[in-house]
Amino acid sequence: MPKLSAHNFQLLVVLASFLIAIQLTFAAESIEPNISPGEQELLEWLEGEESDMVAMLERITNINTGSLNKAGMAELAEIFSTELARLGFSVDSLPGGLIEMPSCPGTNYDIDLADHLLASKPGNGSRLLLMGHLDTVFRFDSPFQSYRQDGDRVFGPGVADMKGGLVVMLYALKALHAQGLLRDMDVSVLLNSDEEMGSLSSRQYVEEQAREHDFGLVYESSGMNNLVRQRKGLGQARFVVNGRASHAGGAHEQGRSAIKELAYKIVEIENLTDYETGVTVNVGIVSGGESRNTVAPCAEALIDLRYPTPEQGVETAAQFEEIFSRVYSYPVDSGEISTNSWVSLHRPPKIPTEESDYLLGKTRAIGRLLGQELGVTDSGGGTDGSLSQAVGLPTLDSLGIAGTGAHTIREEARLSSLLERAQLNAVLIARLAAE
Ligand SMILES: [Zn+2]
Repeated sequence: MPKLSAHNFQLLVVLASFLIAIQLTFAAESIEPNISPGEQELLEWLEGEESDMVAMLERITNINTGSLNKAGMAELAEIFSTELARLGFSVDSLPGGLIEMPSCPGTNYDIDLADHLLASKPGNGSRLLLMGHLDTVFRFDSPFQSYRQDGDRVFGPGVADMKGGLVVMLYALKALHAQGLLRDMDVSVLLNSDEEMGSLSSRQYVEEQAREHDFGLVYESSGMNNLVRQRKGLGQARFVVNGRASHAGGAHEQGRSAIKELAYKIVEIENLTDYETGVTVNVGIVSGGESRNTVAPCAEALIDLRYPTPEQGVETAAQFEEIFSRVYSYPVDSGEISTNSWVSLHRPPKIPTEESDYLLGKTRAIGRLLGQELGVTDSGGGTDGSLSQAVGLPTLDSLGIAGTGAHTIREEARLSSLLERAQLNAVLIARLAAE
């Protein structure tokens, strides 16, 4: 066996102190008092509700709430309105509205959104804003529609993102209510219908509420038992290229192909991706043309953008505009190619602050008291927590059920984490409200 030389020993000491320093960064504010007898009652009350939680998850997963399914959304909103009203909240609905989008003649990409739900109750102590979304990415015609259980694994549309989170949030509040603790708390619950569409309509409400509260808790999935510390910003763009139709054989030279122009633009846009800076651009959907033998008069595309800093978002959006306004495929002065576009930097990056790190450290420490080891991760996915944090509300956005495969037909969740996370949140909310 090799001997440990003095030099190696020194290296080990340096390494060990480095690791301790990293640990301290996250653990600095993480000393939490032990679970009190009152909190123990919260935990036990929730244990008795586990089968009800599972039944509710099954029930609400089986209601389709694809972002554009207004009927499904209304049904789900009604369930939560009733439940929250029973807990002493006054419940309002906030208008969804119509978001108009450019599109080719004959297609319509306007987004007609369902209403959002805001429940609030006055009280003392820290003002808490709990946020979740009612919608999923699974349309009413998706093949993935129903809940299925296999041991501790459950499958279904939105089971992790985020119907499981909604159940966690509701039952944490129910536990606090049952123990008489909710009555004096200042809590608002905002459930929007358009998160999966980028919160285009609800953003104003999220920001408005964020400014009036002290802590933000969002019930996105906690993934593989991880809390998210930092997120990239998100943007999206839709653009429509208009050209001129013509017979592909008889008068090809008189046509101005929107598809040809779109192709040039796609290459330019895709080239904006830069893995070194972390900016990624994805042309996710394209369509256009009328028939094989017609020079295409119109073509359109939908783009996704991710960016680590607000400045990169603004810069890339400006590059989009430049590409939209340039004509690549025909002489510029012909005026026969034009582009309509819509660009939205709909989610700012979530940049950690001292206060949000405090919230994260506190949650992990409470998790440890309950035997739940929660890691820390960064994510490229967006949440409404990015909107609230950007206007100054310290927000933790991954407090929901543990799960994987969001946005795919492989979406699943770990059923036993329903109870775990409800217990974690009941204690977290009780302690935050007391600050
Ligand atoms: Zn989600």
